[in-house]
Amino acid sequence: MTTSNDNAHQRRILILGGTGEARELAAALVVDGHAVISSLAGRTQAPTLPPGEIRIGGFGGPRGLAAYLDEQAIDLLVDATHPFAASMSANAATAASSANVPLVRLERPAWSRPQGAIWLEVPDMEAAADVLPEDSRVLLTVGRQDLDPFRKRADCTFFARMIEIPADLPPEWTIIAHRGPFTLAQEKAVLTANAITHLVSKNSGGLQVAAKLAAAAQLNVPVIMIARPALPEAETVQTVAQAREAIGQLFRTG
Ligand code: NAP
Repeated sequence: MTTSNDNAHQRRILILGGTGEARELAAALVVDGHAVISSLAGRTQAPTLPPGEIRIGGFGGPRGLAAYLDEQAIDLLVDATHPFAASMSANAATAASSANVPLVRLERPAWSRPQGAIWLEVPDMEAAADVLPEDSRVLLTVGRQDLDPFRKRADCTFFARMIEIPADLPPEWTIIAHRGPFTLAQEKAVLTANAITHLVSKNSGGLQVAAKLAAAAQLNVPVIMIARPALPEAETVQTVAQAREAIGQLFRTG
């Protein structure tokens, strides 16, 4: 087993989580001998929990987070939230700076268009809803907080894939209540069986749900790809291994 800081004393690390990478990093940093607190927003019922301590719920904005960093004597803040959790990432940058705590952001690389795929890149959810051609049959893979802009497109037929289903969805929408990851064959079957003409996705990146993009490319289904929100500058790594290494380095030199 690798331990990157056998001789270092234990550090207190707060990980802003809600992603698979955050869980993996928490596990690795516990193995490295650190005291790890993982923070979750509390939106998912029965979330998969990482090793270490867990806290759930918002901090009350950047000031609340800065106060928490201070009270808990946190040595390092890791922002391992989803690339679209822009408010939390902005709060992390502000709070780390005001509490004078180092910040590392773990952000998986964005997807790039597979060769031959038809992608229309749009800046946000509203634009995605606006660009759908009339009478499209749309597979929505955007999450339950992002559905509102699509409600106005009563001309389109929507298939919304999600794990936790909001109570107030338009009754004519079809819900596909499956949890990924999905294989290429499964993704092709969903697109074909529902005669999907457009796939809507955030540019989340990662391997877990990437098969839908390959399936759409193979079936010539256009993808409406929502670009990532802009985030404040921060030291950023792309993988759990890089994060572990950067953190080990920071504590060796810091
Ligand atoms: P957001 O819009 O950036 O955050 C809204 C507020 O929720 C934040 O200001 C913060 O409240 C609270 N919050 C968010 N993440 C938190 C965390 N890890 N720990 C404690 N409080 C948190 O966030 P979001 O897009 O709703 O995402 C919520 C969570 O779901 C995040 O942990 C994210 O990693 C995960 N997630 C998001 C997506 C997505 O597409 N957005 C996808 C998969 C997973 P206060 O200001 O009160 O601190």
